[in-house]
Amino acid sequence: MVKEIVKDQEILSKMCDDLTRKDMQVVRDLVDTIRSNEECACLAANQIGYTKRACAISINGRVLVMINPKCVGHSQDGIECEEGCLSLEGVQKVNRFRTITVKYTDEKWNTKTAQYRGFEAECIQHMFDHFEGILI
Ligand SMILES: [Zn+2]
Repeated sequence: MVKEIVKDQEILSKMCDDLTRKDMQVVRDLVDTIRSNEECACLAANQIGYTKRACAISINGRVLVMINPKCVGHSQDGIECEEGCLSLEGVQKVNRFRTITVKYTDEKWNTKTAQYRGFEAECIQHMFDHFEGILI
């Protein structure tokens, strides 16, 4: 189901819990909502009202789902980025690692580890902040 984007800071500032197999509706709603929103590069579950550690990232027209992702490594060097957020107005300057290695569960419940760089790495780090209840 396509959900409305949450802008309520109180909901967005809560720490998110791990997603379990019985929460798969969260994943379906994430995919439906990101597909319906062209300007949306990445979407965290708490932005559609579920305080769970799951997100969807749009990469070259494909939607990548990450369930309970964890950063298991990163480059030493960082980059300064200007980021916007669907839940906020305007853009902010933030520092991100250039590359990150992420361990996550996919929507078929397989465990995966992959390295990301550039804009994708930036999006995923933005998602990690959402899971901790941090807004840029
Ligand atoms: Zn955001």
